[in-house]
Amino acid sequence: MKKQQIAFHKTHITDDEINAVVEALKSGWTTMGPKTVEFERMFADYLFKDVNSPILYNTSFIHAVSLNSATAALHLALKAIGIDEGDEVILPTNTFVSTAEVVTYFKAKPVLCDIEYGTHNLDTGKLEDLITEKTRAIIPVHFAGQPCDMDEIMEVANRHQLKIIEDAAHALPSFYKGKKIGLIGDITCFSFYATKTLSTGEGGMAVTIDSGYAEKIRTNRLHGISKDAWNRYTDKGNWYYEVVDNGNKYNTTDINSALGIVQLAKLEELRDRRQRIAAMYTRAFEGISGITIPEIRADRETCWHLYVIKVGDRNNVIKKLKDLGVSTSVHFIPVHKHPYYRERYGYRNDDYPVANSVFEESISLPIYPDLTDEEVQYVIDAVSGAVTK
Ligand SMILES: *Cc1c(COP(=O)(O)O)cnc(C)c1O
Repeated sequence: MKKQQIAFHKTHITDDEINAVVEALKSGWTTMGPKTVEFERMFADYLFKDVNSPILYNTSFIHAVSLNSATAALHLALKAIGIDEGDEVILPTNTFVSTAEVVTYFKAKPVLCDIEYGTHNLDTGKLEDLITEKTRAIIPVHFAGQPCDMDEIMEVANRHQLKIIEDAAHALPSFYKGKKIGLIGDITCFSFYATKTLSTGEGGMAVTIDSGYAEKIRTNRLHGISKDAWNRYTDKGNWYYEVVDNGNKYNTTDINSALGIVQLAKLEELRDRRQRIAAMYTRAFEGISGITIPEIRADRETCWHLYVIKVGDRNNVIKKLKDLGVSTSVHFIPVHKHPYYRERYGYRNDDYPVANSVFEESISLPIYPDLTDEEVQYVIDAVSGAVTK
């Protein structure tokens, strides 16, 4: 087998993306403006496409508010629902730290929940025990793109009057019981970071059908100013504005939005390619006893943002793969293992036994549209060899 170098991820950039950015630059408007408005509208329409309701005949009830990251979206979503000092917010420990970090911005407490071994998603059976009179919200994270048990989570949330902010950084496009992720919880947050299934370089989107939440997020993404730059600097607007909240500088740019428009138009094509790679991995690995493949529930569809296998002696397998030129990653180092969270909240390294086993065994394999079948086969051969030898 001739040695190849396989990157863990490459952002899908073609002439379409390059031309869109050039066009945005030539338009003379670089910060948030008309292209961002167009991207937001397109995004709302895209989420609506699969809603089969005779009552909902247009998409004006879906608010998609673009931001410069999913972290910003999660932050402003928590602010919109009124999270305050001393509140508690439940989230899985197996997530990127930003899900927990945004809770700390309010001097509120991130209450970590263990996960399921098969799906790596929040273990809904363990939710109820974590609820106290201070609990205000749950942030489910749709790990690798596979939706959490949203019916069970909604049921617990309704019973205890909690809000649901979905961390859908991995889940575009993903489906739960035929419903596209984006319109289930109170607010859903997507990421357009370089490695995500739609990338604008950096970016995020908060989606909600609650116009009050949408208005708060829109205001706070630009300093708490009651009108955004688009209105202020065009003929329609004027010089006067009011600051109505202590907002942030979280707006995106029309350069990023130009990328978003192009990538959203081919999102399903990119998804199909990842799906094909996932099928190749699954076919190759399901018969190998040393490899546990991802468990996908029958009533969900994942967008395959990540393909995570579990193996014994994980570090050794990663090293062997690296020697063969295959770059991999690990998702995630659980939040409770990070020094800041241990020291500030008293979490211990060996809390959350399931998340710990998953962490010890997990390897994320390369899965992105530009990976060729030959490269996928190379990864398959390298992994099979590393695990069985
Ligand atoms: C990438 C990621 C985020 C943060 O997204 P940014 O756009 O980089 O802020 C949040 N949660 C999860 C689970 C992620 O993977």
